[in-house]
Amino acid sequence: MTMHAAVADARADVCRLHAVLVTAGLVAWTSGNVSTRVRGTEGAADLLVIKPSGIAYEDLTPESMVVCDLGGNRVEGSFLPSSDTASHAYVYRHMPQVGGVVHTHSAYATAWAARGEAIPCVITAMADEFGGEIPVGPFAPIGGDEIGRGVVATLTGHRSPAVLMRSHGVFTIGATAKDAVKAAVMCEDAARTVHLARAYGDPPPLPPDQVDALHRRYTNEYGQR
Ligand SMILES: [Zn+2]
Repeated sequence: MTMHAAVADARADVCRLHAVLVTAGLVAWTSGNVSTRVRGTEGAADLLVIKPSGIAYEDLTPESMVVCDLGGNRVEGSFLPSSDTASHAYVYRHMPQVGGVVHTHSAYATAWAARGEAIPCVITAMADEFGGEIPVGPFAPIGGDEIGRGVVATLTGHRSPAVLMRSHGVFTIGATAKDAVKAAVMCEDAARTVHLARAYGDPPPLPPDQVDALHRRYTNEYGQR
């Protein structure tokens, strides 16, 4: 596939995945964003495709997506990219295995972020998807790459694909943008369930050996193969 065709596919993919954030109830107004890495072919450098800044979700089209280099500079598109672009670019530069990044302010997960409290691994679905707790990352200003630095510092060496950035919201990573969207959906689901459990009691953490076994089964055996 040529780089041009790969960018066209990525524009369509990222546009479609933004609609999933809306359907899943993870975003309000223009907050939140999805990006994907476009791996360079024939010596070309990697690029990223991300949502334009401040455009309503219902107005997003593949053509309105913005293409940037991994320095966060716009190389294609008529709109300005998301204000989180420098942070997405930082993640792609420093985590070569990552092919997609998602950011939301989804309500329950962001409530945990507001308290600066990691979501403890007290249900099997969390062991499956996150391999343990969902950790908290540092508070960071918006606009530069500081959020990206916090995401990389927190998730490097961690099994969780999601981090709760303190007083802000959720960032997730994945091998693809779809994987990162899935992690954002599952993060909100876990945040809501554990919130409800905590409202009426003190749910015990799963034993570490059970967490390991569940995560291994889900990663290696679950689903269609
Ligand atoms: Zn945000």
